[in-house]
Amino acid sequence: MYRLHGEFCANHPWEVIVATLTLGTCLFTIDSKFYLLSHARPEPGDINIDTVVMTLVRFPGIFTVISSFIFSSSAISCFGGDVSDVKDALFCFLLLIDLSKATKLAQFALSGERHQIKANIARGLGVLGPSLTLDTIVETLLISVGTLSGIRRLELLCYFASVSVIVNYIVFMSFYPACLSLVLELYDNFGSKIPWDFNKISEDEKPNPVIQRVKIIMSAGLAIVHLQNRWTDKEENMPLIIEEYNNEMKDSPSSYFHYFRVSADQIVVFILLVALTVKFMFFEEEDFVTDTEPKPVPVKSKKLEKIAAVEENREGRSKEECLDIFKRDNALDILHDDEIESLIGVGSVSSHTLEKYVEDKERAVKIRRIVYGACCENVIGYVPVPLGIAGPLNLDGETIQVPMATTEGCLVASTNRGCRAVAARGVISRLVDDGMTRGPVVRFENIDKSAAALKWINDPHNFDRIKNSFDSTSRFAKLTKVQVKIAGRLLYIRFVATTGDAMGMNMVSKGTEAALNRIQQNFPDMEILSLSGNYCADKKATAVNWIEGRGKYVVCEAVIAAEDVRTILKTSVAAMVDLNISKNLIGSAVAGSIGGFNAHAANIVTAVYIATGQDPAQVVTSANCITLMEPTGSTNEDLYISVTMPSVEVGTVGGGTQLPAQSSCLELLDVQGSNRLQPGRNAGKLARIICATVLAGELSLMAALASGHLVRSHLKHNRSAQFTFNDRPFSVTLHSK
Ligand code: NAP
Repeated sequence: MYRLHGEFCANHPWEVIVATLTLGTCLFTIDSKFYLLSHARPEPGDINIDTVVMTLVRFPGIFTVISSFIFSSSAISCFGGDVSDVKDALFCFLLLIDLSKATKLAQFALSGERHQIKANIARGLGVLGPSLTLDTIVETLLISVGTLSGIRRLELLCYFASVSVIVNYIVFMSFYPACLSLVLELYDNFGSKIPWDFNKISEDEKPNPVIQRVKIIMSAGLAIVHLQNRWTDKEENMPLIIEEYNNEMKDSPSSYFHYFRVSADQIVVFILLVALTVKFMFFEEEDFVTDTEPKPVPVKSKKLEKIAAVEENREGRSKEECLDIFKRDNALDILHDDEIESLIGVGSVSSHTLEKYVEDKERAVKIRRIVYGACCENVIGYVPVPLGIAGPLNLDGETIQVPMATTEGCLVASTNRGCRAVAARGVISRLVDDGMTRGPVVRFENIDKSAAALKWINDPHNFDRIKNSFDSTSRFAKLTKVQVKIAGRLLYIRFVATTGDAMGMNMVSKGTEAALNRIQQNFPDMEILSLSGNYCADKKATAVNWIEGRGKYVVCEAVIAAEDVRTILKTSVAAMVDLNISKNLIGSAVAGSIGGFNAHAANIVTAVYIATGQDPAQVVTSANCITLMEPTGSTNEDLYISVTMPSVEVGTVGGGTQLPAQSSCLELLDVQGSNRLQPGRNAGKLARIICATVLAGELSLMAALASGHLVRSHLKHNRSAQFTFNDRPFSVTLHSK
């Protein structure tokens, strides 16, 4: 409600100002005796607009005081009070007026970018309004208790004070936000500075529910006291009191009671002065400091923030708590930078979606820069790698543009040609298996013990025990298999797990650690030599990955019409099939290859890996591929091609996938981040895309070799490439959206 009210004031400042002024003017004209204003009102020529603007911007508190005082005086005069009697009331007024709220509203207004002023005023009023309303009710009731005191001077002061509080409230809720909105909109120099942190102010301003409750009870009690006094005492006792007072004044001016009454007046004024001094000395200092010198939001580097966290001894929230906050608010504003950093890669929070969840866009950039530290250390810059697009690739009925980062001329063009060759009938792909692996090496005292452990691990009942420990370390990593090899008193245990949309190396390593701890419970003397015993096998050419698979096991096939082989690939089906047998099968066998039964799968895998933020070192395993070709169709005139890749290690979350450009490339493929409905689907699709692109690349290179075009086109694309554009060095950088 308060927020809506604030929104109205900020969006219709002229209407609110004119309405308030009209009301004020009406009040002034009601009582011609009012002369305070005529002294206070400056001559039109005296007003310097700049001074007014600056004053209004920097000293909103003073503005509130002046306007409230003027309005209060006119209100009193309107209700028949004698304004000349309130010469001491200024003290009382200054004591009551809450400058901090006016200052806070100005801070709220200035806590965002220029276009957010209205929204910030509305939000500020939403935060400040409820507690100010309650405070006003309590203060008014409390102060007006003084009007029942019987001490004339005190009664007058209290009367003035309660009206002041109410008027101050009305001004704060209407005139002030309207003026603030107008002035800040007009004031050019505000620019894009962001002097206050909105969230910090709102945090500070959150009312304490206990105090709020006490205030409500107190105001109810006070209201009862007032009602009781007004309706009973006023009618029955007040004439007596007034009569007694008049008699005393008239009959015994020098009596002890008269003397005491005069002293009470002085005491009241004295107490007011002391209270005023205390208020300014001990409670207002902070507000005046912020009034004059806006505090800049500190720029927190990760390092500084960590130091600050240690210095402040701040208890960090756990990742789960942060995630709960994110799920609750669908925003990250109230989290600290390091907490947001820890959530990157979780759910829909990724480095490139930060702007969606933090209001302050500059903060998003800052956090993104922190994240950069996660992928590389001692960063001094970037090495721009040319990025090309191959496609459209017709894969499983979907049209896909494949980003490829490479410095090898011809590669993208060649893959592109392959995509054209399969465009008519498309590529069919299947993900046939999925499992990232980690293979630690453990040692026992002798072969008796290592053999016993081997037997225990292979027992299906114990698999569940190991799996429970492994699976407890991640929401997505699920153990599917344990393969054990024995070598003397050493055991090599290959843990295989699905890892959702992540490539999963870190996740599986974490799970493996927990699983080994579980095995150790049964074999306390088992010595863990290394979490990786090379039976994984990560980033090494091995038969185990070629045979068992690692990561995604994918297979693709396509049929290319004889006509397309002739016109697009510029060769014949027979030549392609012949060359495939001689080169990819027999040639690789002669070379003693493991998993290298292809023409150039590694070329395509590497280019897509670099573009999409995969771990490029894993090309060693991921490029394992066998390409098969045969004639097909009723008269064997068409070409059938299949590509099988048993160990494609890819992910769409984690690692380099969170970097902006890489993330954009994943988005281009519609596989960025975690697949909410079916975790793992994005990574699986990426593996199928890579396999299909390899198929296209195989077709084109094999065709070039079969027709003898290879050397010619390579010389053309690699040697003649001019890295200049309009006589200037030419480079392309893909920016995040
Ligand atoms: P990671 O970023 O370490 O882990 C993935 C994170 O994403 C986990 O915290 C996971 O949650 C979370 N996540 C959110 N949504 C997910 C989803 N849909 N599917 C899967 N996880 C999801 O990534 P990683 O793939 O395990 O490791 C990749 C990094 O490891 C790369 O940087 C690579 O270079 C490096 N690497 C490490 C080793 C090694 O030996 N450790 C070897 C080679 C490469 P949970 O916390 O619930 O699991």
